[in-house]
Amino acid sequence: GSAILLYLLRRRPPGDVWARSTALEAFDRTFAHAVHHGELRMHYQPIVRISDREVVSMEALVRWQHPALGLMAPGQFLPSARRAGHLTLLDEWVLQQACADLVELTSRLGGTAPSSVNVNLSPQTLSGDFDELVISILQRTGLRSDRLRLELPEDADLQTLTAAGPRLERLIAHGVGVTLDDMGTGSTTMRYLSMVSIQGIKIDKDFVAGMGHNPRDHTVVKVLTELGHGLGLHVTAEGVETAEQLRALAVMGVGYAQGYHLAVPQPLDALCATLDTGGTCGEA
Ligand code: C2E
Ligand code: MG
Ligand code: MG
Ligand code: MG
Repeated sequence: GSAILLYLLRRRPPGDVWARSTALEAFDRTFAHAVHHGELRMHYQPIVRISDREVVSMEALVRWQHPALGLMAPGQFLPSARRAGHLTLLDEWVLQQACADLVELTSRLGGTAPSSVNVNLSPQTLSGDFDELVISILQRTGLRSDRLRLELPEDADLQTLTAAGPRLERLIAHGVGVTLDDMGTGSTTMRYLSMVSIQGIKIDKDFVAGMGHNPRDHTVVKVLTELGHGLGLHVTAEGVETAEQLRALAVMGVGYAQGYHLAVPQPLDALCATLDTGGTCGEA
């Protein structure tokens, strides 16, 4: 099991096709097993309103607590899960868990709990009847629909996003929020902004990271912010690692921020302890 997985994660260059397909089959079984046997874990990273540091939402970020390999980040297993066709199984699990966790957090913290949870959807999920899935999970968990925000991946092609449009509009009419993730890194997102009535964009962390030393990155962040605000959208900057970046974003008028400088992704209990002191992150 784990030896094959390690092999797969090392991402051998193409060539040994037989070994690769065997490894993928093994991964396929291992990952499905992991999902069904409780090896996935959710971490949550606060999303903060820059003006007062209030935690308005939290992004659900999945991890795999592998029995032999330890805690794995999505970058280590999502590519294989995608090749094995398991991303919808994963997204379904995450949606259910994230909605249930926000209900739980609210029962523990009351008004200091974040008002919403952001969940990433994969292109595979967006190609299916995810609107039914989302609505049934909201009903099952009892989470109010306006407390869920879906993040649309930048690696989805325009065709997939376009086909998903009516289902997204149905969810939006239900009160669910929709945000374009990693804005500026995909090739199709710009066109999409005028096609579906999304509520927010997230500026990719690569631009935020470059802001301090690359004037072009600074300009990209500024223009994406103006674009977002011009369209009446919430603008969130991701990957904020320094006080300086946060100040620069505040000057540009960016509304929301997420990043290690404010809070790292953490298990629900840890987040609960952080928020218990008042529902803010970082110094206002
Ligand atoms: P993303 O949706 O853009 O999520 C933001 C990523 O940036 C997360 O990586 C987060 O831990 C990381 N991050 C947060 N603050 C900082 C910072 O200050 N600096 C830097 N350098 N990084 C920061 P993570 O958790 O490794 O997730 C990577 C990607 O995997 C996500 O990117 C998302 O595309 C995907 N992903 C994660 N969880 C899920 C999930 O439940 N379902 C699906 N479909 N995709 C997921
Ligand atoms: Mg995201
Ligand atoms: Mg992102
Ligand atoms: Mg990103």
